[in-house]
Amino acid sequence: MPTVGWIRESDLDAFYEGTETTPDPGPVREPSFSCPFCSSVFPNQSEFYDHVYAKHRVERPFIMLRGREPSGQAVVRSTLALSEIAVANTSHAIVRLDGVQQKPVSADKLKKIISTTFQAELRLELVNASEPKATPVATDYDFSFRIAQETELKRVEQAFSEILASEAITRSSIGSFLGDERTQGSGKEYASGLADYCLGVLIKERPEGEKLTTPFSRYRELYGRALDVLKDFPRPLARLITCIIRFSLNDLRESGARTGYWELDLAIELLSNPTSASLPHPLGNITRRPVCPIDHGTGRMLELSKHLTAQRRWSPILDEECRTLAYSDLFDATDHQKAFAIWAASAWRLGSTECALEPLTQIAEVYPFSRWASKYLEQAST
Ligand SMILES: [Zn+2]
Repeated sequence: MPTVGWIRESDLDAFYEGTETTPDPGPVREPSFSCPFCSSVFPNQSEFYDHVYAKHRVERPFIMLRGREPSGQAVVRSTLALSEIAVANTSHAIVRLDGVQQKPVSADKLKKIISTTFQAELRLELVNASEPKATPVATDYDFSFRIAQETELKRVEQAFSEILASEAITRSSIGSFLGDERTQGSGKEYASGLADYCLGVLIKERPEGEKLTTPFSRYRELYGRALDVLKDFPRPLARLITCIIRFSLNDLRESGARTGYWELDLAIELLSNPTSASLPHPLGNITRRPVCPIDHGTGRMLELSKHLTAQRRWSPILDEECRTLAYSDLFDATDHQKAFAIWAASAWRLGSTECALEPLTQIAEVYPFSRWASKYLEQAST
């Protein structure tokens, strides 16, 4: 049987065979990368990646309210102006207002919806579909709009002033405030923030005759909860109480704008920057009226800083006054720390470095006072 070759020669093969020469096949051909979005071709992977990153990157869409991106679940308690809303990388938005889905809207339309919504649950999906051949990128937010009317907030403040600011606070007066018909409208949440604050004051003070079974430390929870709500209300009373709460929790971060309650402004300035040259001064002989209760521990610290910053020189008597307060059993830990800080700051201001050493040592590791206390200790030891 003859062997039959299973590869048929082509004419060209036959020709080459006849000439006894074979052309050089050349180097292995490089793979190429073609862009799936615009079909440009690139010789290597890194150039391809650079191209996709530069030309076809789909950025995450997001929204900014008053210069900050809200968390996925946010509560809006005051009206937002159009200029306070920024929407970025968004081709359209899908909006559900109180569970009702609307047609997709543009970023501008979305801003209008947000600035004119007062009471609603808004579920928002921002979509960036700028690259037609790529999967769109989306970001979800849930906004709870609880914007109370101005008149309702005023009614709440009126009830607060009558029931909780002019009389001694008790559990039952807090109950009457929350049950008052003026606190039932859209200002209800504002009222609950104010009530939490007052309950915190009460628990922190533990007055006799008040049957309080709640643990002492729960006042911090109540202060925190009140802070969380009240910080969003652009009203002088809410702002004052949030400053008092922050001060009492030794949170001096947002100091800056003054509250007008000069003892508080003074103590905040003293504890933020003990060598500050611009401590606030009393406002002269103007009549003052009680605006809100302050817990006795915090009140005592305000008096101490007022008393000590009025001194011209330091003495062992002042040392002893401070020592008694700073080591007293009746205060909460935050007030002990404040007493040491006021003591240290005042002695240091008056040039009594020696006397400042004892309190400085106590707060050298305690934030936020450690920011200056450790520095002063170092200076004193060199
Ligand atoms: Zn491309």
